[in-house]
Amino acid sequence: MANTENAEIAEIAEIGVIGGSGFYSFLDDVTEIQVDTPYGPPSDSLFLGEVAGRRVAFLPRHGRGHHLPPHRINYRANLWALRSVGARQVLGPCAVGGLRPEYGPGTLLVPDQLVDRTKARAQTYFDGLPLSGGGVPNVVHVSLADPYCPTGRKVALEAARGRDWEPVDGGTLVVIEGPRFSTRAESLWHQAQGWSAVGMTGHPEAALARELELCYTSLNLVTDLDAGADTGEGVSHEEVLQVFAANVDRLRGVLFDAVAALPPNEKRDCLCTTALGGMDPGFAMP
Ligand SMILES: [Zn+2]
Repeated sequence: MANTENAEIAEIAEIGVIGGSGFYSFLDDVTEIQVDTPYGPPSDSLFLGEVAGRRVAFLPRHGRGHHLPPHRINYRANLWALRSVGARQVLGPCAVGGLRPEYGPGTLLVPDQLVDRTKARAQTYFDGLPLSGGGVPNVVHVSLADPYCPTGRKVALEAARGRDWEPVDGGTLVVIEGPRFSTRAESLWHQAQGWSAVGMTGHPEAALARELELCYTSLNLVTDLDAGADTGEGVSHEEVLQVFAANVDRLRGVLFDAVAALPPNEKRDCLCTTALGGMDPGFAMP
């Protein structure tokens, strides 16, 4: 099935999973569909399948061949595409660098705060520019005081504990532009702020999800200690992929259990569902 009209495929999924580095497949038995958006195509096809009776849409964040660096990912298209197929709750696993010596490789962190240090990314739907499919987004300001879904966080934490993987509950993810890793000075500065982990894709993903009133939960797998957090040689991409590969099955299990435990979309009662506070976005929500 390819190039299906968006209208025909609404509500074929309930939950979205955006997989990061080292995570190019998630479901075994999938239907692949291509979805277009007013912002262009997402990172890849959506891969639809079932987990514990829940309909899931999986999207490889960097494309299946990892051809998209973090700063070139079409985040707006990705979240839009997931919502257009019916997903209202999104799990976003990603690889991060630990900013504290105790957060070594293999640590799972479920952050509750976010700091944006990106530089050049489209990070809002509400830019006042006409959409190709019709509608002109209004100027709308959403709260991102609590950037992650409280229900999704709770579910993710319980899923990890259920697999004997004690997660770090809360903490701040700082998102840098990349694709390069931090200098030692930048890393020391991040640590001095008390932040927990550094990544390259957590923003604007969470912010865009909030603008579309989606529940978004970030699951951070620590693949390395960031340059200033130890006396090592700094981070290599190879090191990141090795640690991710060693933990990918376990993380997949956590995600499966979390998918199974998320509430039905119509039973969501978290702050995410009213992010617009009834304000008119100026376009039809996908
Ligand atoms: Zn929520």
